[in-house]
Parts: sequence; C-alpha cells; structure tokens
Amino acid sequence: MSVEENVGELLPPDRLMLTPGPSCVDPRIYRAMAAPIVGHMDPWFIKMMDDVQVLLRRVFQTQNHLTFPISASGSGGIEAAVMNPLDAGDECIVCVNGAFSERMAIIAERIPANVIRVEVPYGRTVDPAEVLRAGKGRKIKFVGLAHGETSSGVVQPLADYRRVADELGALLVVDAVASLAGVPLDVDGEGIDICFSGSQKALSAPPGMAPITVSKRAEEAIGSRREPVRSWYFDLTTAMNYWGKDRLYHHTPPITLIYAMREALRAVLEEGLKARWERHRMNQQALVRGLEAMGLELFVSNPADRLVTVTAVNIPPGIEDAAVRKQLLDEFNIEIAGGLGPLKGKIWRIGLMGYSCQKTNVLIFLAALEKTLSDLRFRLPAGAATAAALQSYQQTSQPALAGSRK
Ligand SMILES: *Cc1c(COP(=O)(O)O)cnc(C)c1O
Repeated sequence: MSVEENVGELLPPDRLMLTPGPSCVDPRIYRAMAAPIVGHMDPWFIKMMDDVQVLLRRVFQTQNHLTFPISASGSGGIEAAVMNPLDAGDECIVCVNGAFSERMAIIAERIPANVIRVEVPYGRTVDPAEVLRAGKGRKIKFVGLAHGETSSGVVQPLADYRRVADELGALLVVDAVASLAGVPLDVDGEGIDICFSGSQKALSAPPGMAPITVSKRAEEAIGSRREPVRSWYFDLTTAMNYWGKDRLYHHTPPITLIYAMREALRAVLEEGLKARWERHRMNQQALVRGLEAMGLELFVSNPADRLVTVTAVNIPPGIEDAAVRKQLLDEFNIEIAGGLGPLKGKIWRIGLMGYSCQKTNVLIFLAALEKTLSDLRFRLPAGAATAAALQSYQQTSQPALAGSRK
C-alpha cells in the first residue's frame, strides 16, 4: 500500500481547549483564514496591514507608532522585547515568579546581559519595592515582568512599576501574552515601554503571531545601541521597515495568520475591551466557585493575585494528574493543562481565554471534572460544582455569554 493510501484526510478532533493556550478559535476567524493568499508586497495587503496596526493600537491602548504582530509565537515576543534594548554586558532586572518570567531572564542571559533576578516562589507576586532595592545605584536598562504568569496563574499588578522604572532610569518591559484582551491592560496608561502578547491566548486566534508595541522612549534606547541587535530576525528596527511607512521586504510574513489577527482584533473591539474583561472575570469567578464547591483548593491563595485567564488548582492527594487529564480528553474532548517545572503533577491549569471563555464551557467542564474525579473515587458532593457556578452567574448582572458557539 502506498503512503497516499495510508495517510487519510486530515480530520482533527473537535476539542474544547481550556488550556493556557491555544484557546478555541471563533468560526469567524476560521472564515477569515480561508481567504485567498495575496503577496506580501501587494498594494491591497499593504493597506490591510495599516488596518491591523490601527486595531492593535486600540487593543493595546497605545499611540505607539511601532506596533505590529511579529511572525513568531509568544516566546518570539519575549525574544524581541529582550534582545532589542540590551547590548552585551548591560544590566537588567527580571521579576521571576514562574516559568515565563524565568524565560525572559534566560533569554537576557544569553545576550549575554547581566541579569538581576528578583525572585519569589511560584504563586506569588513580586513587590516593586524589592525591585527598586535590587536596582538602586546600578545602571538598569529595563525592568521586565510577566503581567499574567501562566505557569502559576498569578497576575502581577503593574501599578508602581512605572515609578520604579523611572527611579532606576529603566525601561519597563511587560509580557502580556496571557493577559491582553482578557485582563485590564492599558499600555500608555501604565507607561509600559515594550509590551507583547501572543495570538493564541485571549485574542483567540491561531498560534504563531506575537503582537508587540514599543514606546518612543524604548525606540530611542534601541536607536542608541552600541552594536546591532544580535538577532537578525527579531531586530525591530529592520522589521519596522516592513511594518513602518517604507514597507521594505524583511521576511515573508504568514499572510493567513495576519488575516486571522485582523479578524480577532475586530472581534475584540466589537465586543468592547471592558465587556470582554468583564466576561473573563465573571466566567472565572463561576469556575472558582464550582471548583471550591467540589472541595478543590486553588494554588494561588490570595484571591487578588489570581490571573483571570488561567486558574491553577491543586491536584488533591491520591489523585493522579495524568489519569484525570486523559479521561477529560477521551470522554469529554476537553483539554486542560498540567503544571510546568516544579509544579508538574502538583497543579492543573484551566484556561478560560477568548472564545473558550463561555458560560456553557464552564458548566460542561465542571460537570466533566466531577464525573472524572468521582470515577477515581474522589469524594465530592454530587452536583455542587455546577450549582455553585450557576449561583455565581446569578449574582452577576450582565450576560455571561458574549457570542455563542455557531
Ligand atoms: C504562553 C506564554 C508564553 C509563550 O508563548 P508561546 O506562544 O508558547 O511561545 C510567554 N509568556 C506567557 C506569559 C505565556 O502565557
């Protein structure tokens, strides 16, 4: 038998992705992706790129000229944000409270830069006063942090970080991969110098693009580097010749993903940023009530520190991580994530992002988790989780569903 006969038509399963990315993709985005490819220098496409940049500035809430989607996943966003301002031997501070903020530190170390890590255990936020202490009297190029630390489900409040960066004469670099369009974020309002995200999280587009925005101050810092940026691909000054007014060839961008980005941003702004943040908040609140009613414990003990888009739950003693995730997938077509690094086998991470973040999905998931845990002899009050979630929805006045599955 030939390979062609063996390898059948591509038929991926229709999963409900409640992971920290990728999240489910809205059908309107799939429709946009079916549009024909045009050349990246086509006048129609060049005009369309302007639209994407206008929409992106609104979603980031910024006037920054240098705002565009990088052709890379979220990690490419980290790479660009870190490599552009830093010359070899420069000093920077990275607030490390999980795997993604740690990735920022690792990338900076490879430049090689002198990286001061202000570290706290997973599940905690970093105190800006600690950052100020660590940087006092030094020449700090930037202070970097993860707004939403997806590995532990923690949101790092941004208030005070602009002041700390100012006192240190540093740029402020923020990883908003897991927060943009799901959690309140105002790039200009918070005075962030370099902010980046990922397409597959709360924006709910397919993976593969990392929107980034760079302030005038950061542009100037990049312009006064001693040496060229050590990455050709992620050099923002040359990439901007394509995304800027010159539109000079830099690399061939993923045309289809840019269509998807355009439609995803349109969907975000149609819903409205405030309504979208509120939808995420309400659905997570219902999820948390349901998990607690089941007798489960959240990993992040301080409710104010919990990231709305990713909920970390402690795996109860005697319950095997892999068995639960396998049953959720096999019996219910639901994917959730396990822990990373030191938290592997200790927590589950449940993502409620973008199109995945819907009332029906919360209720289906709670029912599925209840059945799965009961099968594994975890004792819990039958029906309590969905009842608690429904009650939580009743207490919130606004509709929990913005757009249903179609
Ligand atoms: C997912 C994530 C990343 C990495 O994004 P990839 O698309 O997997 O490269 C970086 N930072 C945070 C906070 C994330 O949640």
